[in-house]
Amino acid sequence: MDVKNYKKAHKEIINDCINERIRQDKKFGANRKHHPAEWLMILGEEVGEVNQEGINYTFTFNDSKEITRVLENMRAELVQVAAVAMAFIQDLDNHYFDCPTICTSCEQRFELEGMAADDDCNYFCQECYKELAPIMKAEFDDLVRKGEIETNE
Ligand SMILES: [Zn+2]
Repeated sequence: MDVKNYKKAHKEIINDCINERIRQDKKFGANRKHHPAEWLMILGEEVGEVNQEGINYTFTFNDSKEITRVLENMRAELVQVAAVAMAFIQDLDNHYFDCPTICTSCEQRFELEGMAADDDCNYFCQECYKELAPIMKAEFDDLVRKGEIETNE
């Protein structure tokens, strides 16, 4: 099966995993960086939750409603496992391989040379920076005007 057909056949699962990734990004922050050992603990915690549902399934007898609920929970936990695995992979790709820096805005990778950084060490690609610099400058000027930040000038 080629990738296109494969994607089609698994569309619902893939969508569930991506939606879970979005949920986790909102909850824990996007583009997370952890030591691989930390990722393994996070992943292990999620796998443990699947095991919990496995125990519930194994020891739930003669209650078809309860069994359905347990299986639904198990599926949801498996989606969380997959989403954490995706975040782990993303972290390796973004932060561990000998790779260029990620643009804070568009999240694409670029060679560090030629990227722009703001005062908080966020890096931006040329294109995003061109777009964002005037906005950031306006926000900065606004804060200075309101007296919320002081300049040395
Ligand atoms: Zn960019």
